[in-house]
Amino acid sequence: MNLRCVDCDALFPASMMYHCSHCGGILEVVGLGTGTCGEGNERVSAQPTMWRYGSRLPVEDLSYAVSLGEGITPIHAANRLADSFEFEGRLLLKDEAVNPTGSFKDRMLSVAVSRAKELGFEKVVCASSGNAGASAAAYAAKAGMEAVILAPVHTPREKLTQIAAYGPEVRLVEGHYSNSYRIAQQLSKEFGYANMTTTYINPYAVEALKTVGYELYEQLEGWIPDYVFVPVGAGPLLKGIYRGFTEAREVVGILHGDVEKHKDARIPKLIAVQAEGCAPVVKAYESGLDKVSAWGEPYTIASGISDPLIGYEQDGTHTLQFVKASQGFAISVSDDEILQAMRALAVLEGVFAEPTAACSVAAVKKALQAGAIPQSCSVVCMITAHGFKDFKIYQDMEREHRKCIFPSYPHRPF
Ligand SMILES: [Zn+2]
Repeated sequence: MNLRCVDCDALFPASMMYHCSHCGGILEVVGLGTGTCGEGNERVSAQPTMWRYGSRLPVEDLSYAVSLGEGITPIHAANRLADSFEFEGRLLLKDEAVNPTGSFKDRMLSVAVSRAKELGFEKVVCASSGNAGASAAAYAAKAGMEAVILAPVHTPREKLTQIAAYGPEVRLVEGHYSNSYRIAQQLSKEFGYANMTTTYINPYAVEALKTVGYELYEQLEGWIPDYVFVPVGAGPLLKGIYRGFTEAREVVGILHGDVEKHKDARIPKLIAVQAEGCAPVVKAYESGLDKVSAWGEPYTIASGISDPLIGYEQDGTHTLQFVKASQGFAISVSDDEILQAMRALAVLEGVFAEPTAACSVAAVKKALQAGAIPQSCSVVCMITAHGFKDFKIYQDMEREHRKCIFPSYPHRPF
């Protein structure tokens, strides 16, 4: 196992490095899984987890694996939701909200904390808009490691409450997410914390997201959807799905002892979804640019992807490369469209999603109406985190809903 710079191809030992020391580029893990494929879960957990693909994850000794039961999340057929916007194709939801702390970040932190432990670190730091912080704190607790979580002051209260419950030191940072990102880097550099921030900064965390691609391929029995809609901040989830599908045929084929059956090597078109109030990747895509620039002041209810990328614009550029490589596109949705999608997910499919998670569904509806995707295609929406993460949005929505449907709703106890 090594780390490789995605820009200059320089190779480094697999230590806790965050950027290429030659050019400052993003690092990724290479040299995994040349032997057996898809083994490991039996050494980590009695329950099925993403460690099913343990030999493809960047932890050399699986006795260091820290697991709370992450991954192997369900796929729901969303037929009522599809009918509601007259979609004639196949609509599926990959429900990452059922991960141990309620978001897909658990995959990243399970691997990153495991690797930090294996490399001898005793303390971790994580800049977070909420979900990664909860994951980092939970996995650090499980590993017996000290944790510092940095979050913007306007992070939803439910997310901060959850983070604090796991017992880390929580520091609230003025301004947007990029400020927290910068302070996490300082703490890591000056005081020896392993940086668990879930942009592209920690190559081990990013590597974990391949398992989403593996799982989709395995759960759909080698059938490849036309599109996967992915809420995107910096975008490692989108890259993870791309790389997962790239390797899935081999991993799943060997896992099932049936390489011949798993022949379909296509990669779905990956759609980067952002909120209109913070859409640096979409802006670059729509302008025909290859390079992403930082966003100004973000303003959106989708706190999980409210990331202006200030100081690490290259992360957005890297994500855009995978959007284009998959022949996908980037699209933004308004807060009103997100609210409608949240309501529709809950009412029609029984899925309770935070605003960021509902962005994928809002974008499918918008793309259909705009003719950007055909009426008869197949689509997977990533539902990235649970509705419990941002209760206030639902409380406000509920008040509004009552006002609309029950104008004389009795405001008194039963
Ligand atoms: Zn480099």
